[in-house]
Amino acid sequence: MKKIGVLTSGGDSQGMNSAIRSIVRTGIASGFEMVGIRRGYDGLMEKDFTILESKDVGDILYRGGTFLRSARSEEFRTEEGQTKAVNNLKEAGIEYLVVIGGDGSYRGAAELNKQGIKTYGLPGTIDNDIPLTDYTIGFDTTLNVVTEAIGNLRDTMSSHERVSVIEVMGRDCGDIALHAGIASGVDAILVPEIPADIQKISAKLKDGFERGKTHSIVMVAEGVGKAEDIAHQINEYSGLDTRATVLGHIQRGGTPSAFDRVFTSRMGHKVIELVEKDIYGVALGIEKNEITYHSFEEIFASEDELNQNLYKVFEDLV
Ligand code: ATP
Repeated sequence: MKKIGVLTSGGDSQGMNSAIRSIVRTGIASGFEMVGIRRGYDGLMEKDFTILESKDVGDILYRGGTFLRSARSEEFRTEEGQTKAVNNLKEAGIEYLVVIGGDGSYRGAAELNKQGIKTYGLPGTIDNDIPLTDYTIGFDTTLNVVTEAIGNLRDTMSSHERVSVIEVMGRDCGDIALHAGIASGVDAILVPEIPADIQKISAKLKDGFERGKTHSIVMVAEGVGKAEDIAHQINEYSGLDTRATVLGHIQRGGTPSAFDRVFTSRMGHKVIELVEKDIYGVALGIEKNEITYHSFEEIFASEDELNQNLYKVFEDLV
């Protein structure tokens, strides 16, 4: 019986469990033996393998995080680490390996692919910073978590007539800030892809308060800078009472949204279809609501760009 391994790597994201469940159950239904690899590439080098039956992935669909756990591994970046991983996979008879993770995890999967393991990538990151997919696993849930947190902050900010500067995750990608900012009706969105004029934003916020607004929210993607510094600058320019909030790791938590559950279930199904067709060395994505796949090389050669049209939508709303 052919064996398929599955692991989660890098930062965890809501929906990874749902993806594992789908891969395992579809794989079993198609006659494969499914092997879970714990703690990402570390577990691969340490042979931390476990056979997964259908019941083992019960009760995880609605849980955030990853029950296989995740890790960042320095050793795996080395040639020796990768050789160890390849030898362990071959010894265990695992011919195919599904890696759920971000860009770094994809690079690791691409290396293994070059060394004879048939690998697949699923975009497991809340940041939505992977090219050739409209959404990554957990992004939608994170937007809901951020939007709810902002709703709670809004209540207190409004009582004290303050400007709230909220820092969200995303590294060099402004997608969380842009999408959650629109969903929350914020007054300004600062993203790494578009230079911002803090002085101009401050003047606009001041004008808003003079017209009777009781609170304002400025959304900052972490790649732009620290919320504390930006809050300070706004206060200097406008004299308004400003407060900085860093949402931090709560953004990775929460039960996966229905969207994340459905889309990961579809991806898990597709990856088994690709195994059956013996197509490998690819990462899956969702484009225009179709589950698609591209070679790792194509993904590495592509840029993930901010949706400028969406930014324009925001600009016309404030
Ligand atoms: P996230 O976007 O959530 O941080 P990620 O997959 O990008 O996820 P990384 O820490 O960059 O997270 O990568 C995860 C692991 O993948 C690393 O700890 C390392 O073991 C492996 N990895 C990263 N880059 C490479 C590379 N160039 N070659 C081989 N392995 C790599």
